[in-house]
This record gives sequence, structure tokens and C-alpha cells, in this order.
Amino acid sequence: ELGDTGDALGLSVYAVGGFVRDLLLGMENLDMDVTVEGDGIFFAESFARTHGCRVRSHPAFSTAVIVRPDGSKVDVASTRLEYYESPGVLPTVERSSLRHDLYRRDFTINTLAFCINKDRFGLLTDYFGGQQDIQERIVRVLHNLSFVEDPTRVFRAVRFEQRLGFHIAPHTENLIRNAVRMNVLDKVGGTRLLNELILILREREPVRAVFRMAELGLLPSIHPALKQVGEAERVIHETTQVLAWFRLLYLKDHCEQWQVYFLALCDRLKQEEFVGICKRLSVPGRVVSRVFGLRNRALGVLEAMQRRLKHGPPIRNSEVYYCFQGLPLELLLYLAARTRHEEIRRFVSLYITHLRQVRCTLDGIALQQMGIKPGPELGYVMKHLLTARLDGTITTTEEERSMAMS
Ligand code: ATP
Repeated sequence: ELGDTGDALGLSVYAVGGFVRDLLLGMENLDMDVTVEGDGIFFAESFARTHGCRVRSHPAFSTAVIVRPDGSKVDVASTRLEYYESPGVLPTVERSSLRHDLYRRDFTINTLAFCINKDRFGLLTDYFGGQQDIQERIVRVLHNLSFVEDPTRVFRAVRFEQRLGFHIAPHTENLIRNAVRMNVLDKVGGTRLLNELILILREREPVRAVFRMAELGLLPSIHPALKQVGEAERVIHETTQVLAWFRLLYLKDHCEQWQVYFLALCDRLKQEEFVGICKRLSVPGRVVSRVFGLRNRALGVLEAMQRRLKHGPPIRNSEVYYCFQGLPLELLLYLAARTRHEEIRRFVSLYITHLRQVRCTLDGIALQQMGIKPGPELGYVMKHLLTARLDGTITTTEEERSMAMS
């Protein structure tokens, strides 16, 4: 359909980038990037008009996003040239040719263009040896200044290498190490850095990518404290197991995998180092203090539980509930990955799968109708009932009623 619009407007239209790479690899990729030889915004608007889609245009970049009625998106670019006035900042854009459009891309494997006009459908444009590199499974930059031009590409290189099971070409790897030595990542804004890290930690199997980043020196160049990531190795591997377990539960709750890995990555760090990393990644101050507070609370809970397991009486369900209540799923899963105590892992599992859903049948209104005054007394009775429910000392509404009255 996109090709038809191109034909009607007399514009050449190409599928480009990851979509073509994955097509050649026989992998599914629903993210379509299209480049139009000419005015991409005009093309996107024409397509949208005739196909009932919405368009978001970005004239400063000569790009547009077509949003289909089912929510799927197509990114449309115009053939264009980008100037990086200084490293790490957004580029200045000017119209140009398809070759230039492809030359500004990160790696040869992402430089293939697949024509979707009817008369040339499927014709592959390969200026930079992308097909061969896909065949030989190599991640290679197009020129020596690539990482200086856009240092975030060092993360993209690792992401593609690990996801696709490719190898970063030796010369490209040297360029990464040089870039790191030249501290080019210092010039990248925190938000861009965080986004790249999130993309890696959201990959299906991010662990190898994490250790590859460490090996290439990328983690310490985010923050020196991340040099010790090797010490967190056990927790990082456990995180994979815990997340796999969580997925098998098929719960409705959404869990941000990247956050669990991020916590695992920061496992051995002191509080001020953790805050330092968040700041380097431009996490807003109020978010940092919230996460910082919750992380401290969670680690405190873990220590207290370990002490109790060693010395105290058995931990009751209600205690587990009040300890974990209010902690986000991501932190709970991190605790499960961090602890060396199988029993604590079982507590986390019990809380996630069962305890946090426990409710009393009698709610505040019902209890007031029974004559309990609103205020501290009501709060006390409700907590007492819930505790008894959690510990299984009462199981029916009748028992709740008689406990409330006593
Ligand atoms: P994914 O499957 O992770 O989405 P992708 O290759 O589609 O991979 P995108 O981030 O969606 O990656 O980018 C689309 C295309 O834009 C890439 O294939 C690449 O050609 C180009 N690109 C993206 N980011 C950069 C960058 N930092 N430098 C150069 N080219 C880039």
C-alpha cells in the first residue's frame, strides 16, 4: 500500500534499516522504517488521507510517523543529510540522496534499502556491503568517526551483536575502545544514555550484553562505580531466573524487566553511588528519592528477614505481607534474585501470588454498620482482621464478624 502511494505521487519509496536486516535474517520485525526519495512528510500525509491513518510530522527533521487505525506505526524519513555540529547533540538536517541517507546510519547491516514501488518491488540497494556483513554476521561501522559522531552507537553495537548473535568487527571494536578511552560518552546527555541502557536491559536475554558492555568499558564510562559489576554477577544471573519464573505466572501485572536488571546491576553499590548513577542518567530528583527510599526499605526488609530466619521465631504470613506491602514488583523480584535464602525467595513468591490479594469480606462500611466508630478504632479492627485472615486463623465472614465484635 505504501508503494502504491509512492507510485501515485511519482516518489521512490524504500523500506530501510532494521526491517530489511531482519527480513534477510528471516526474523519478524513489525517496526517499519521507510525512506522516501523526496518529501517524506507530503508522502505520509497523502498516504494517511487515503488510508484513514493519522500522521505526526516533524518538519525540522523532514520525518513523519504514520499511525494506522490498529495502532501500528510506520516511520517515514525523507532522504536527507544530517550534520553533527558537535558530538552528542541532535543533528541538523538537510535534504539529500538515498545514498547519503544510508551513509548516516550506524552499521552496515542497517544500511540496506528495499524498494517497495510496484515496478521495482524487492530491488535491494546495498551501498556499503550490508548483505555480506549480514551473511557473515558482523556489526561494522561505516566510517572511523562513527562513534565520535554519535557515541550512543557503542551501546547499539553491543545490543545488535548480542541480540543477533553477531560479532563486532575487530576494527569497529577498536574504535569503540578508543571512543571510550577518549571519554566520548561524557558528552552524551543522561536521558539518551538511560534510553540506550533501557533498550539493552529490555532485550530478551540482556545478561551477555551487560557483560559485553562491562568488558568494553562502557559501564564504567556511565559511572565509575559500575566498574565492579562483576561482583553483582550472581544477582544478575539470578534475575534472569526470577523473571522467567514471574513470566510463567501469567499475571496481569506489568513488570519492567529493565528496572529489575538495573537494580541487579547496582547491587553492590553504596547508596551514594546508586544516587550518583541515577543522577548521571538524568533521572528526575523526585524519582531518585522515591527509588532510593524504596530500595533502602527493601534492603532493610531483607536483612531483617535474614536475622529472623537465623534467630527468631518462624515468620508469619502477615509479617511477610506488612514487610513487602507497598514495594513495587520490580523491587520484590530484585530481592528474590538477591537473597541467598530459599525461604525468603518463597516469601516473595507467596506474597506476589497470594498474600497481596488477600482481603477481608467485611469492609469499613460493614464494620461501621456493626457499630465500630470511624477513626483509629476502625483502622485497628481492620488491620487485626486482615492479619488474622493472612495467617489463616480466621477463614469465614462469620469468624470476621465475631472477631470484630470481640
Ligand atoms: P530494533 O529492532 O531494535 O528496533 P532497528 O534497527 O529497527 O532495531 P531503530 O532504533 O528502530 O533500530 O532505528 C531504525 C534505523 O535507524 C536503524 O536501523 C538505523 O539504520 C538507524 N539508526 C537508529 N539510531 C541510529 C544512530 N544512533 N545512528 C545511526 N543510525 C541510527
